[in-house]
Amino acid sequence: MAGKAPQVHGSGPAFDLAGGTLTIDLGALAGNWRALAALCAPARVASVVKADAYGLGIEHAVPALAEAGCTDFFVATIPEGVAAREVAGEARIFVLSARVTPETAHTLRAHRLIPVLNTTGDIACWESEGWSGGAQLPAALHVDTGMNRLGVTHEEAAFFAQENALTRAIHVPLLISHLACADEPGHAMNARQLESFQRVAGLFPHSDSSLSNSAGIGLGAEFRRALVRAGIVLYGAPPVAALDGVVRPVATARARVLQLRRARSGEIVGYGGAARLQRDSLLAVTGAGYADGLLRAASGAGVDQRVGGTPGAQGWIAGHRVPVIGRISMDLTIFDVTDLPAGSVGEGDLIELFGNNVPVEAFARAAGTIPYEVLTSIGQRYHREYLRGEA
Ligand SMILES: *Cc1c(COP(=O)(O)O)cnc(C)c1O
Repeated sequence: MAGKAPQVHGSGPAFDLAGGTLTIDLGALAGNWRALAALCAPARVASVVKADAYGLGIEHAVPALAEAGCTDFFVATIPEGVAAREVAGEARIFVLSARVTPETAHTLRAHRLIPVLNTTGDIACWESEGWSGGAQLPAALHVDTGMNRLGVTHEEAAFFAQENALTRAIHVPLLISHLACADEPGHAMNARQLESFQRVAGLFPHSDSSLSNSAGIGLGAEFRRALVRAGIVLYGAPPVAALDGVVRPVATARARVLQLRRARSGEIVGYGGAARLQRDSLLAVTGAGYADGLLRAASGAGVDQRVGGTPGAQGWIAGHRVPVIGRISMDLTIFDVTDLPAGSVGEGDLIELFGNNVPVEAFARAAGTIPYEVLTSIGQRYHREYLRGEA
């Protein structure tokens, strides 16, 4: 399909009615999965599509990834699993953080979702669900290897392995653990967790094992095990240098210029008068704000909470970077476009907030946070364009 214009599928508010647009390049998403699959082979690449596919739309992301060849998906919650199942065909869908109870077990089974068992209570409930139904139910077992977030202990896993070898109550296709410090390649925790996970995996000789998220992929082949769980890197924001250049951006957010205004040196801009103009200026007031994921901490000035005195975010229009000026408000963000060549920005134009020209990492850094938080904060007010096929 190279060279062919991509098909566009719109969703959310109509273009003219929205304060901004979000373009989601499903061809890039599929290409990112294929690039990772090639990099990780013989390990397989599962797609993590929790939190509405990191804010980008689970009902669009899952079919694009499945079409690219992905057969394993991870979500956080049961409702996310139900949404994924509607578009995932026969793919396996693992639910990372559901509590397994008699009620949730019923919903999990009804939608053919595979729970990740995180506690001995989860294990006991899934066992009795299997016994009452007369079937051996599948589950992934999550073992904590030092993060102290979710998962059973090594001892609990060993006890379960012994017991389950006899009763065969649960079919365990997958054993997982999660790395606490994978985004710091030199951190001593990585080797310690790998070693601990290898010992536990020895107790489950018939199960595949999975240790790495996106950053873990960058730690090398032995961390990739049978299956990696790729999230943020699929969406085009590699969390570690080792993955730079492997993927391309997927989401581009743009805000519409609602008003261009001239303001005089000495005047203030926005809430709190947080910015005071040092020169006569041209300002572009745009229709997206912190309710659209433009985190207030990325304001141009006057945000007390911001750490380290980082400058605010910069947008992009007509080949130029333009700084955010003053505080970002709920629905509006103001850019200083004084330095642009005359006539290069008009009312109705779109200023890129992050995407192909402003890496989402740069926006996140300006807000003192990570791309994960920016993407999952995007919200539902943008006009969305889903691009299918390779551009
Ligand atoms: C969210 C999550 C992932 C994906 O993490 P990324 O850093 O986005 O790749 C993988 N595994 C678990 C257990 C998670 O919670």
